[in-house]
Amino acid sequence: MNKKVVVIGGGYGGLRAVEFLSKDAGIDIVLIDKNPYHYLQTEAYGYIAGKFDMHDLVIDLKEWCDGFKERAQFIQDKVVSVDFDKELVKSATSLIDYDYLIIATGARTNFFSFIEGLKEHSYGVKNLHRAFNFRVEFENLIYKKLQNTKESQDINLVIGGAGLSGVEVAAEMAYVIEAYKKTIGDRVKSIKIYLIDASKTILPGMSEFIIKNTEKRLESLDVNILTETFIDRMDENYIYFKDSQKLKYHFMIFTGGIKASHLNDSIDVQKNSISQFIPNAELNIDNHKNVFAIGDCVEIKDAKGEILPPTAQSAERSAEYVAETIMSKINKKRVKPFDASMLGIFIALGGKYSVGELFGFIKVSGYTAYLLKKAIAKLYYLGLRLRINAGYMSRAELK
Ligand SMILES: Cc1cc2nc3c(=O)[nH]c(=O)nc-3n(C[C@H](O)[C@H](O)[C@H](O)COP(=O)(O)OP(=O)(O)OC[C@H]3O[C@@H](n4cnc5c(N)ncnc54)[C@H](O)[C@@H]3O)c2cc1C
Repeated sequence: MNKKVVVIGGGYGGLRAVEFLSKDAGIDIVLIDKNPYHYLQTEAYGYIAGKFDMHDLVIDLKEWCDGFKERAQFIQDKVVSVDFDKELVKSATSLIDYDYLIIATGARTNFFSFIEGLKEHSYGVKNLHRAFNFRVEFENLIYKKLQNTKESQDINLVIGGAGLSGVEVAAEMAYVIEAYKKTIGDRVKSIKIYLIDASKTILPGMSEFIIKNTEKRLESLDVNILTETFIDRMDENYIYFKDSQKLKYHFMIFTGGIKASHLNDSIDVQKNSISQFIPNAELNIDNHKNVFAIGDCVEIKDAKGEILPPTAQSAERSAEYVAETIMSKINKKRVKPFDASMLGIFIALGGKYSVGELFGFIKVSGYTAYLLKKAIAKLYYLGLRLRINAGYMSRAELK
């Protein structure tokens, strides 16, 4: 009899898990997501700056699952809890049973509650709705500057958090604003970008090569970098810092931290301070041998015991491992331990410029790095689209 694997979350981890599990004709897959689409949040920096459009950023999950013929079913629903004893996934309206479960519900922006006013007055980019709202506001701003030639008021656009996503957003916004010179002339100079972080440097935890080259690029794009700067509170006009300084701002995008998805809060197992599950070596949670967690909703450590940053790459690698583990268990084969090491990282830094490292020794910056970063993103997107258009083999063809 076929085994039923339920995957909660159609993000980078969830989709990779479905893809791998579909190799086994003896598995029925159910993918559940609260949204009807897969959101390519790694491309959000380009969307909010107006470089990419909505169709570059989302893939319809039902169409994508249909590509797997009868082997994968998509259900649009929000999961509210899981009963591990009864092996049931619960939404507000339904109960879905499973033989194996993969939780891949990702994370959300952590609008720290100790910073008064942060959530009310800033945008996030981890969900499409907030990214869309910001893009509309930004286009409105440019339109007003275009209409009013006497408009010279300074507009400060602030990005809180200089990790991977904050740096990408700051660089792309700065690059795009510079390009608006052709549209709104010198009035473009009144739009200023600030990148703020409490850490000593931007991109804390990354290599010196990445940090130095990124700083150089941001400076050339006139991004004002404020490190070791602690935000105390915000109101609708000002950001107040701990050292009693303040900055007038018009938009704040907050990328300073993440917190695991709301579903984690309803599951009573061991978690870290940002609500990520703490799994065992096989990525099981609470030692349930048929329940796995992957991607941003779980704390992933490398061989040295260092916690890895939440990336699409980790989500996909953990997905591949878990899918292989489930197939091994079903087919009574030996399960290998998870190797969580990162292969590399590429950071988009506005226009046709990136910086990146691969396997720890290949280090590139500028146009070559941009081409590599673009190729990775394009291959991912085209891969998903191809599955919609061409589809997978049916169960009978696979056997
Ligand atoms: C601007 C930006 C740039 C980035 N750049 C990079 C990069 O260059 N390289 C890189 O590797 N990473 C990058 N990242 C990080 C990367 O996007 C995340 O690490 C990745 O999305 C995590 O994948 P995931 O599958 O764990 O979760 P997600 O991709 O967030 O997917 C989670 C899914 O679960 C669904 N879900 C959540 N709760 C429920 C529920 N209760 N019921 C049903 N469905 C639910 C959501 O709708 C979503 O579809 C970037 C992130 C941002 C914001």
